[in-house]
Amino acid sequence: MNNENKKNMERNKIKLYGRFIIEGYITTLTGLHIGGSNVGIEIGGVDLSVVRDKLTNKPYIPGSSLKGALRACLERAKGLPLVVIAGENKPREERIEIHICKGKKDLNEEEKKKLHEEYLECSVCNIFGVPAEVPYPAYPGRLIVRDAFLKGPEDLETLETLELPYTEVKTEVVIDRITSKTMPRHIERVPPGAWFKFEMIFNVYQAKDIEFLKDLFNAMRLLEDHYLGGHGSRGSGKIKFGKWKIEEMEEIKETEKKNSEENKKAQGEENKCVEKNKKGLEEPVIIRWKRIEEYWGKDTKSSLPVEKKFLPECWDKEKDLTEWLEGIKKELEGVMEKKEKSNTGVSDDKNLQT
Ligand SMILES: [Zn+2]
Repeated sequence: MNNENKKNMERNKIKLYGRFIIEGYITTLTGLHIGGSNVGIEIGGVDLSVVRDKLTNKPYIPGSSLKGALRACLERAKGLPLVVIAGENKPREERIEIHICKGKKDLNEEEKKKLHEEYLECSVCNIFGVPAEVPYPAYPGRLIVRDAFLKGPEDLETLETLELPYTEVKTEVVIDRITSKTMPRHIERVPPGAWFKFEMIFNVYQAKDIEFLKDLFNAMRLLEDHYLGGHGSRGSGKIKFGKWKIEEMEEIKETEKKNSEENKKAQGEENKCVEKNKKGLEEPVIIRWKRIEEYWGKDTKSSLPVEKKFLPECWDKEKDLTEWLEGIKKELEGVMEKKEKSNTGVSDDKNLQT
């Protein structure tokens, strides 16, 4: 595959073969704070307000926040070198660092080639994208993350326990670094148990992209054990992909623990991950494969199913899902081989000779 990639990149041609559409709900398990503008100080009495949709006044999760959190989780888990993209002269906690296969300035041809090879294998740079100034031909980042809008539960707007529409206000005591005085700070958060509808698009330019897609699932799984938005180290931002009934979460954890112990004994059980976790789960995440031909209204005549349901936390245990992905990968390799042959005319020559 790699040789084919390189050849295609050299020709500076990029063909979109299809898209995975990943959609579903994100459930908040602890309060979620994604900062908005702080006009709320005067009107609502909060120091740190959440970002809200101007039309509906409901809090939402900006696609950039979700994408950034997924990227950060994956690049740290892979231990990739980070580069400072903002706040170079600021203290470390205020700097923004991300991983890019970038290298030093003034690379020679040999070094550029090596960097390009690194890039072709790097799931972070391929999934999330690299800036235009990298010294090699790069694909566009495969992943598009849409804003995720608040969908429920329905009583969230009027819930009496909430201080503001759709949100709670958490008071924290902070110590002023200079004067050592303690003072309260008010943080607005979306309460636990809220559902946001998310959608991610994963574009496929080569069969290898299926491997990168698996790292996106890993990033989702890593994020569930990390946090989204701000104040994560103080408990905010624990989320779970899928629509869950929050009051049953504790019970689920217990069941999961018991099941995993039982799984070690009985093999084969672990493939039923989505069903097994059904308790408290209302809807798993849905992943749909859409071939480019579908956009032209053509019947693609594939025996593969169109969509799968899964939970990020156990995608790799779901034989069904991994087999489906492998099937799509094989199909793509077939299509690409055909295209490659017809491009070079090899196919015809071969047929004539044999
Ligand atoms: Zn990279």
